[in-house]
Amino acid sequence: MEYNQVSENVFVIFSSRASNPLKTAAQTATSTCIALPDQLIFIDCSPYPDLSSKFREDMEQKFDRKTTHLLLTHSHWDHILSMEVFNDVDIVSSETGVNEINNTLNALNIIEEDKWPTIFLIEEQEILDIFKTIKLSLPNILVKNELIIGKEPYELIFRVLGGHSIDSASIYFPHEKVLCAGDNLIECFPQLPGTPSETFDIYNYWESLDIEKIVPGHGNIVGKDFLVKIKLYFEKLYSTLQDLIKQKIPRKSAFTHPSLPKYFAESQPNWSEIDMNWLDMTIKSWYRYLKRK
Ligand SMILES: [Zn+2]
Repeated sequence: MEYNQVSENVFVIFSSRASNPLKTAAQTATSTCIALPDQLIFIDCSPYPDLSSKFREDMEQKFDRKTTHLLLTHSHWDHILSMEVFNDVDIVSSETGVNEINNTLNALNIIEEDKWPTIFLIEEQEILDIFKTIKLSLPNILVKNELIIGKEPYELIFRVLGGHSIDSASIYFPHEKVLCAGDNLIECFPQLPGTPSETFDIYNYWESLDIEKIVPGHGNIVGKDFLVKIKLYFEKLYSTLQDLIKQKIPRKSAFTHPSLPKYFAESQPNWSEIDMNWLDMTIKSWYRYLKRK
């Protein structure tokens, strides 16, 4: 398996399957291992249990340290599906993450299997099969706002942010200037942010940190310049939508208005699983948000 070294003690895997190189949520999801002086911390797990288990095994061997924690950036299935691989360590999520996992477990019980692809936005048979045998456990350490893990200068800062999902969090490793952003930052087209105020709060918090590398929830490792570009796009989107509302431009024309900023990654292919334009959805929900203000 290919490991991507982000900094001296930070390694990331992508879950891509060479045999099935679709750009799906599952295959672009990242899982990170941070080696602290006497423990290993994992952040999110690949949806594929075999990959997670190999990753853990190889990192424990490489660093000759035990895994103590799995930190969840949020509880969407593509970040927690192989949790079972970490059933002997502390699992950390934001307080609301527990509800999210319970909701998923309830949905799996109530909803018939043939509806799973549309409800959970899954198209890969392998993932559907994993869903059938899934053993999710509930996090045992719940964070309201912030939790520091490890000792200075090697501490990790788990910060609850919301935004992409109510339970979204990011993890910052100041010593190596690495941020694990979760799905509030995605390198694959396009972004899946929350409301404008949540989004800008998150970007401003991240901008205040000394960051060299960002591990996004999905896609390749990026630098802080990527965050700056994304923030600039959403600032322009916000002010343009505000202007269009002021000018009383009808809703339908506003969504395709030529004055809307161009998203710099528009030419990238969309995720393959759903025939859905995520960028359009964000523009529409931000328009509704501004209209209500
Ligand atoms: Zn995701």
